[in-house]
Amino acid sequence: MPNGLENKMRQTVFVADVHLSAATGDLTELFCRSVERWRGRAEALYILGDLFDAWVGDDAADDTARTVARALRGFADTAPVYFVAGNRDFLLGRGFAAQAGMVLLPERSVVSLYGRRYLLMHGDELCSDDGAYRCFRALIRQTWLTALLLRLPVAWRWRVAARLREGSSKRQQRPEVYRRTDATETGMARAWAGFRAADALIHGHTHRPAVHRHCLNGRNIVRYVLPDWHGGRGGYLSVSPQGVQLRSLPEN
Ligand code: MN
Repeated sequence: MPNGLENKMRQTVFVADVHLSAATGDLTELFCRSVERWRGRAEALYILGDLFDAWVGDDAADDTARTVARALRGFADTAPVYFVAGNRDFLLGRGFAAQAGMVLLPERSVVSLYGRRYLLMHGDELCSDDGAYRCFRALIRQTWLTALLLRLPVAWRWRVAARLREGSSKRQQRPEVYRRTDATETGMARAWAGFRAADALIHGHTHRPAVHRHCLNGRNIVRYVLPDWHGGRGGYLSVSPQGVQLRSLPEN
């Protein structure tokens, strides 16, 4: 590999909350184009949940899913693609992951990049003030319940997903709920248990892209929040030996 290319590849790309669906072809196009652009320019791609606006099982994959799988496979031929499930697509399984060339990661994991250790997660578990959601999450992630859901006819599963989404967007419009749905220090401290050696945290879910600084157990921690994709626009986090950058898409 020529030196120039080697240097160009010294970045790792993170995205989350792309929320792809048949209804937003512009985002699918932007995502696939971006993935193609990162091919040969990134040494890994991490998708930290909610790649799809809804996922009701690998057997229900539609044209959007197939297009996305093709784009990801193309990238995966040159560098790894990792996937952490979000609250919208936690039913995404090994079948689709294999199709898309993605490696499934657990809810929380640590990756060491260019001398710094990053704790990775979707981010919904950081919103510790949202008690109702936390109960729902604990229930819906039970393996017996997901197994049961996946046995329902596909049309029923879509109906359940639509109902859940409707309920959550109605809830989110209430200001007191909106306030409760951001990451909290309690949520962070909980997430950090077992991962104390991490230097920084990268997550999505809250749709409030930012760089936060926290002091946790006497240590200074940086928290990078990924942007969501909507209205034909998106964004990603680029981690390189030079540092961490939040970038918007489309890029010029
Ligand atoms: Mn989410």
